[in-house]
Amino acid sequence: MMPKSPCIFCRIAADPNEPTRICELPHSVAVLNFEQRDYPGYALLLLKNHYDHVHEVPRDLFHAFIDERAQLAAAIFRAFPDTSRMNYANLGNLVSHVHEHLIPRHAGDHNAGAPPWPMEKQPRLADAEYGIIAARIRAAFKKP
Ligand SMILES: [Zn+2]
Repeated sequence: MMPKSPCIFCRIAADPNEPTRICELPHSVAVLNFEQRDYPGYALLLLKNHYDHVHEVPRDLFHAFIDERAQLAAAIFRAFPDTSRMNYANLGNLVSHVHEHLIPRHAGDHNAGAPPWPMEKQPRLADAEYGIIAARIRAAFKKP
C-alpha cells in the first residue's frame, strides 16, 4: 500500500495544515484543486491510503470512498447553488494515487456542454474492430 516513492497526495492527505484542505472524511480527504478560475469549487477527493489503481482498492473501501464522493458533491452543490452538473473524473496520469476530481459545471462556463478537458475527436472504428476490443476485455473478466 505504501508508494514506491514519495507521493504528493499521501503528503497532502496527511497534512492538516494543507491550505487547500476542505475537510477530512473517514476514508478520504477533500482538497481544492489549485485551478479555481474556470470551475469554482473544483475539488479533489484523495483516498487516505495509497493505491496506484482503482482495481487494487478493496471493494468495501472503494464503496465507502464513492459514498464520501457523493457527500462532497452534495456539499459543493450547496456551496455553489449555480452548479448545473458535477463532472467526475478519476485519471491518475500525473499522480498515481487513487483520487477523484469533482468539477462543478455552470451554464456558460469554460468548455460548456463538453468535457472540462478538450479531447481530440477521433474517427469511429468499423463495428468489427469494436467487437475485437470488447471480446478481449470480456475474456479478461474474472468473477469476483
Ligand atoms: Zn499516495
